[in-house]
Amino acid sequence: MKYHVFLDFDGTITTVDVGYTFFKVFAQGRAEEIVRRYREGAINAVECLQGECDIYNEYPAPAAQVREFIKSQKITVGFNEFVLYCETNGYPITILSAGFDFYIKPILEKSGSGNLEYYANATIIKNGRIYPEFTHYNPELCQRCSNCKGVKIKQLKKPGEVSVFIGDGHSDYHGARAADIVFAKSFLADDLRKANVDFYYFDTFHDIIAEMERFNR
Ligand SMILES: [Mg+2]
Ligand SMILES: [Zn+2]
Repeated sequence: MKYHVFLDFDGTITTVDVGYTFFKVFAQGRAEEIVRRYREGAINAVECLQGECDIYNEYPAPAAQVREFIKSQKITVGFNEFVLYCETNGYPITILSAGFDFYIKPILEKSGSGNLEYYANATIIKNGRIYPEFTHYNPELCQRCSNCKGVKIKQLKKPGEVSVFIGDGHSDYHGARAADIVFAKSFLADDLRKANVDFYYFDTFHDIIAEMERFNR
């Protein structure tokens, strides 16, 4: 099988949701209400992320603190082995993120995977303020997501490839529904159970390697 792996970033490659934690820490909980409304489905991802940035931008954090926060983020157990496993087997990896490039890029680089292809929400940082640019947002194709993972999988999967999606969050739902094989945990696992959609539960990337090895037997 020629697998094409589509990978969520926050809470999947990293141990926590970096974007959510960033605003929780640096906007001192003032953005929580917006996130709650997004999770309820009252607003879409673009409104949620724009709202979080607007609140953060009222009192942006010192650049050194932001750098320190980004540097302190941890990678999920087995990630580097998984990247190697995919490279060895010739499975392309594409990261699909509903988060922001300003923390994704440095975290990937620090983990040694700065060469991986990723699609995320772009940002311009000016005087410590975060100005998101939703370059992947296309309301004609999906009104809910800022960077719809379902749309991206359909666009990026090549003929003959079997798509494998790995994720943990609400913003992964369209990606999971578009993929051939799904690995899920946390909110995504809950959402898929509710919708009666089959998936493989995972905790670390070692679980995924082990399962993919079984597919090939
Ligand atoms: Mg996630
Ligand atoms: Zn979508």
